[in-house]
Amino acid sequence: MADTQKLLALYTRMRNQGMDARAALDVLHEAIDALNEDDRLALAQRIRQQERTDGANQTRPIRSIPSSAEKTEPDARVMCPHCGKPNQTGEVLCFSCGGFLSGPQPDIQTRILTQAEPASDGDDFFGADSVLILTARNTQKAYEIHPQASTRELVIGRRTNSGPMSPDIDLSDSDGNRLGVSRLHLSIRYDSQYHTLTAFDLGSANGTFVNGQRLHPHEVRVLRHSDELRLGNMLLTVTFRHNAMSEQA
Ligand SMILES: [Zn+2]
Repeated sequence: MADTQKLLALYTRMRNQGMDARAALDVLHEAIDALNEDDRLALAQRIRQQERTDGANQTRPIRSIPSSAEKTEPDARVMCPHCGKPNQTGEVLCFSCGGFLSGPQPDIQTRILTQAEPASDGDDFFGADSVLILTARNTQKAYEIHPQASTRELVIGRRTNSGPMSPDIDLSDSDGNRLGVSRLHLSIRYDSQYHTLTAFDLGSANGTFVNGQRLHPHEVRVLRHSDELRLGNMLLTVTFRHNAMSEQA
């Protein structure tokens, strides 16, 4: 029971920091899977209840921006892989057993079909085939990221052995802990309409800086090719690699 309360508190904190519901649940995916079925169902019900209340009062920023890839039939159903009950498409947790309706999906490479690539080839352009590469200055380790593959924002942070949270991009192997990277530090979202990447700080302890300028809480910043990103004291170089298909467009 203590575990579900702890997980609910973490979930609530992430939502208050502006993360969307799906991203927050995916960060806790492994920890929720490890609960027994009663606890998992109890947690799912608490989360559902909380989301309803918040939706009515509009008390917090809900950043669930549905992407075009998510648009489905209004009465579409998805079957729970654990208990077989039908759920509304777009749900993350099964209403009947509390299990995840799909696995975490940051690495699935689905090409998102876009109408027409805009003519713009400015340094903020990030197309459907572009790849984001974050290179850690200290280790020269390059993190390749495909934000288009996810229907939600991606979370950059640092795993710990004891904590329940698993960010999509884990900077612990580049000395993230010593350099002051928070467990949940920054989120990145692909905007398929404007072909940009946006970043916002998740209430990190030591802040996020883009080209030396600190992001304000909840400030949404467009990232550009060759930006210098600093998470706490960790320096990362932002590189956009445009694959042949988007170059030709
Ligand atoms: Zn189920």
